[in-house]
Amino acid sequence: MTTRSETAYISAGANLGDRRRNLEHGVASLREAGVLLKKHSRFFETEPVGFREQPWFLNMAFEIETVLPAEGLLDLCQAVELAMGRTRTFPGAPRLLDLDILFYGNCVIETERLVIPHPRVAERRFVLEPLAKIAPGYMHPVLRQTIASLLASCRDTSIVRPYQSGDDSV
Ligand code: ADP
Ligand code: MG
Repeated sequence: MTTRSETAYISAGANLGDRRRNLEHGVASLREAGVLLKKHSRFFETEPVGFREQPWFLNMAFEIETVLPAEGLLDLCQAVELAMGRTRTFPGAPRLLDLDILFYGNCVIETERLVIPHPRVAERRFVLEPLAKIAPGYMHPVLRQTIASLLASCRDTSIVRPYQSGDDSV
């Protein structure tokens, strides 16, 4: 019997400590746990939305392939965030590392602790802009629009700009 793997998309963000190092370390930890990194966007520097009195973020998006079920992937993401030293205060608070599962195949999931597609994908430029670099044609399974089209109609005007760092490998 072969184990089926699923393609998933993750949005990663950091606005405390060495932001770039945190993102790189997060990706490395997922890979060490057996997750296959297929594609990643460059880094973007983004203005905080919601709770605005906090440092700017570095954000990126990546495509992975994993044999983990969606809940297992969430467990892994949370374990990586915690290992990095993240403490949970309130939603939207400053963080060393945030790993949000945007999509898991074409699955629609709504449990107490996991909602997929991530409910705020379409309203966040800092998610859509990096994601559109790696998956412009991916069809949102609920909204039935591609990422490129969601980005084109996104009304979030907060600043999302390429991070000038030279090397964009992770
Ligand atoms: P936020 O990213 O909204 O600032 P957290 O990272 O602290 O907040 O996550 C809050 C909760 O969101 C987590 O406890 C997790 O169970 C839940 N959650 C629901 N859906 C998802 C998802 N698709 N990806 C990541 N976390 C999710
Ligand atoms: Mg999160």
